[in-house]
Amino acid sequence: MAIKRDYYEVLGVARNASEDEIKKAFRGLAKKYHPDANPGNKSAEEKFKEINEAYEVLSDAKKRETYNQFGHEAANSAGFGSGGFHAQDFSGVDFEDLFGSAFESFFSGGRRSKRGGRAAQTGEDLAYDLRLTFEQAAFGLTQEIRIKKLNQCDTCHGTGAKPGSGKSVCPTCHGTGQLRVSQGIFTMARTCDRCRGEGEVIGSPCTTCHGEGRIERERVVTVKIPPGVDEGSRLRIRGEGEAGIHGGSPGDLYIVLHVEPHSFFQREGQDLLCEIPITFIQAALGDEIEVPTLTGPVKMKIPAGTQSGKVFRLRQKGFQNPQGGGQGDQLVTIRVETPTNLNVKQRKHLEDFKALMETSNTPGIAEFLSKVKDLFSRKKE
Ligand SMILES: [Zn+2]
Ligand SMILES: [Zn+2]
Repeated sequence: MAIKRDYYEVLGVARNASEDEIKKAFRGLAKKYHPDANPGNKSAEEKFKEINEAYEVLSDAKKRETYNQFGHEAANSAGFGSGGFHAQDFSGVDFEDLFGSAFESFFSGGRRSKRGGRAAQTGEDLAYDLRLTFEQAAFGLTQEIRIKKLNQCDTCHGTGAKPGSGKSVCPTCHGTGQLRVSQGIFTMARTCDRCRGEGEVIGSPCTTCHGEGRIERERVVTVKIPPGVDEGSRLRIRGEGEAGIHGGSPGDLYIVLHVEPHSFFQREGQDLLCEIPITFIQAALGDEIEVPTLTGPVKMKIPAGTQSGKVFRLRQKGFQNPQGGGQGDQLVTIRVETPTNLNVKQRKHLEDFKALMETSNTPGIAEFLSKVKDLFSRKKE
């Protein structure tokens, strides 16, 4: 391996050069030695790579500091920085910005889209179906889930390069990611096969991830489910999707919740619904009954003369709003059960009671009868 020149020397700037001075020096040299300006010139190509490499390190404050302290090796190691070295090479720099219109003619074969084909890509979002009991949905819980997903490779920190080997500018396309093919007077551009448009090639691929930068592994994610979630609710866990590509940020994980039905309760929005059967005696005389709620039984008064279908509201015994805020109510519907299988004695008592009934005992029936009577008398007219 050839001994590397000092990066400051390469760019011809002082060790204490400002960011602007470094950028200015790089622009000048890059214009001069760009492969498109020196077709077929091997030494210009080498020089261009060298300039580029120096700029990558010196234009990044963190890399520059590491370089100043530890030299080339440290700044070039794959474990360096978040995306690893070379994660953002010169193709991350906007070419139009760099060269301006004077260089436009060199890109006649169709201009590269900004940031080219090797741009950082956000990892894919993932969805995970999680089943909850009715109570878990009501109270929330913290649950560990195991998901298989593409994680950033620990060996190469997502660069795909074997530690120490780094990446280098693609020798076929000189880092542009495109090859220009001349046909008569037309020049056409196509994606470089060697680097698949990425503009750079891996020196030697990471053996753990085979150069992909990502590797499938099972991961345990702790999910905090707030109280009050409902069937089909989605929770977004930022950054727990698949790892990004080329230093891109990871995708998100969506937890899709499915809530088991309850044998006694139903849900309507934030309200909890239930139905309670009582005897016609309780309904007529009034009583105090026990009503199950999500937090245990509570006593509820049934007033004398309660009709079947009457709904009582227990305040704040429903579901919480998972986004915070108020709590729903529990709505208790009373169903009066008509007694069946009467024995002789019971029947006798009811017959006796029937004889004692007055119109005012059943105003609903009285009202109904008068309406029906009206209806029939009108028909006769
Ligand atoms: Zn790797
Ligand atoms: Zn290439």
